[in-house]
Amino acid sequence: MYAKEFTARVDSVEGNRVVLDQTAFNPHGGGLLGDTGSLDGVKVVDTVKGDGEAIVHVVDSPANFAVGANVHGTLDWERRHRIMRMHTSAHLLSSIFNKQTGALITGNQIEPEKSRVDFSLENFDRERMLACCSQANEAIAKNPSVKTYFLKREDALKIPGIIKLATAAPPDVQELRIVEIDGYDVQADGGVHVKSLGEIGKIEPLKFENKGKSNRRLYFTIA
Ligand SMILES: [Zn+2]
Repeated sequence: MYAKEFTARVDSVEGNRVVLDQTAFNPHGGGLLGDTGSLDGVKVVDTVKGDGEAIVHVVDSPANFAVGANVHGTLDWERRHRIMRMHTSAHLLSSIFNKQTGALITGNQIEPEKSRVDFSLENFDRERMLACCSQANEAIAKNPSVKTYFLKREDALKIPGIIKLATAAPPDVQELRIVEIDGYDVQADGGVHVKSLGEIGKIEPLKFENKGKSNRRLYFTIA
């Protein structure tokens, strides 16, 4: 998750879609935007999932890459690191909201500048939500580590709160990837995260919205 540059071999090129034999670019999915950056100086404007396991680099000019040749990839690191900080913030917030209110997460959108998390919550209480954000910042100040590891599916599903998305079924795989914020949260998750909470800096709530009878939305940023 901390690789900023890499060299890889070109596996296929179709128009502006380039697939490599390995990559540090993270594809769009799970509420996270895809990475941007460059391949041999050609701009990568998005990264998406392709067929099967393929990760597709979408380049801004028709690709001139030869299949089998090596290319050098460089991530737009500042943007990607903000996505990691935002994403780990969303996990922390969802855990604290879940513990304080019992709310489940009904959706999220992680973007570099502004992110949002949706909660299923009957009673909207602005003060209570602000208090949860303060608790999140207190947790960040303690700088606990964020660990990722794999667990057998049946063992993972025994952990209380492992699935916090109200609608999500865990992927149909033998092993689940687990992201654990030490002392605060354990979730099955495939996305990119920082390795300790201190990297987030500070969570700043921007806006609370009512999205229907039992849906609340929090917009936040990081500083
Ligand atoms: Zn996540």
